[in-house]
Amino acid sequence: MALALALTILAPPLARGAAPPAGPRPENVVIMIPDGCGPATLVLARLARGRPLSLDSILVGAVETGSSSSRITDSAAGATAYASGVKTANRVVGMDPAGNPVETLMEAAASRGMATGFIVKSRVTDATPAAFVAHVRRRSQEDEIAVQELAHRVNLIMGGGLDRFLPEPAGGRRADGRDLVAEARGRGDQVVLDRAEFDGDLRLPLLALFAPAELPYEIDRDPKQAPGLVEMVRRGLPLLAREPGGFLLVIEGSRIDHAAHANDPASHVREALEFDDTVREVLAFARRDGRTLVVGAADHETGGLSLGRRVGDTPLEGVYPESLMAVRCSAERMADSIRAGHPARELVERETGLHLTLEEAGMLDRALPGRRLAEAIGEIESRHAALGWSTWGHTAIDVGLYAFGPGSDRFRGVLDNTEVGRRIAESLDLQVGGSRSPRAPGSGGPATP
Ligand SMILES: [Zn+2]
Repeated sequence: MALALALTILAPPLARGAAPPAGPRPENVVIMIPDGCGPATLVLARLARGRPLSLDSILVGAVETGSSSSRITDSAAGATAYASGVKTANRVVGMDPAGNPVETLMEAAASRGMATGFIVKSRVTDATPAAFVAHVRRRSQEDEIAVQELAHRVNLIMGGGLDRFLPEPAGGRRADGRDLVAEARGRGDQVVLDRAEFDGDLRLPLLALFAPAELPYEIDRDPKQAPGLVEMVRRGLPLLAREPGGFLLVIEGSRIDHAAHANDPASHVREALEFDDTVREVLAFARRDGRTLVVGAADHETGGLSLGRRVGDTPLEGVYPESLMAVRCSAERMADSIRAGHPARELVERETGLHLTLEEAGMLDRALPGRRLAEAIGEIESRHAALGWSTWGHTAIDVGLYAFGPGSDRFRGVLDNTEVGRRIAESLDLQVGGSRSPRAPGSGGPATP
């Protein structure tokens, strides 16, 4: 009884389900999504860097990530929850489970006259950015998503995915023959397709696509070829901030997820650190500006990453993330070099800085004839760092919730992912989640069945 009373008194004022306080209203919102980044990833990143992360300073709670079709969400349903406050099924983008398009934050913000943008490391037509402006039944409909994104007139689009904007004869993958790059230029948008153009003057509306598909992993990136997430945000954020009427910006650390799917720990931790560097950049802006709410949350965890593991029957007592910081390229890139003829053991030892055991060298030899070479390299790096992975897919674990700035008091405790989206909308006094006429202005035409 005494314990129960003590727990009641100690319970946080905003336990789950409690109504959020009506605090000050932000004029701008930056939503930051580290795709596939769970709590273990951030501990790994903190240990690897040897000091607290920027995210650590704004941790306010946790998010339950399940979708309507599974306790394990995908990025389409996860992003739809944040973008519209609606629980939908895996693979569905910007629609409820019955296939009705739902109003998104970005659509509501644009209707109000706010500037909008997204900056991602994946294809700009991938599920996370798509859910903020597009409405399709399957996330794989990326040709259609590209059309809807342009029709919506998002003011700032930066990332990869040029393939979906160009027809096949022009080197792209669009099946319908449309050249969306030419269409964007034709209506007066600035189109930027390489590093040199990115380093020049930029203006809105801006469509900046630096790769046919994803941008390179940070660990592999040649700064002369493509900008990283920090630079993209450093150039993009001031453009939006100059617009009258406030702005809504979505930033995605898309490839934290990809490296976790690959169980490639060195690429994974570098992506997470790059994302945290981007958070630092955004927080510096928000502190100067004073009118910007920053909300961060992954859509789900990926990989089932754990710090501590057994090798054979032996549980290792210790974790060694420092070893990952010496790795010089992704497991995928090492595998490509080995297939191109470089001796496997020598190359892996050189690029990882590790001394391989005979057993580990044997793992490479056995993997070489098949397509699992990158997996073997990731496993060797994981053993040396004492990291475990439970899956190549996503998991159901809660992810961290982060908030800073005016209106951040609304975000406390354990929230369902849809509640995060609804509270962002409330903080801007916007309505989201209502059914959206497929032909409403700015919707980009009828949703494809
Ligand atoms: Zn994923």
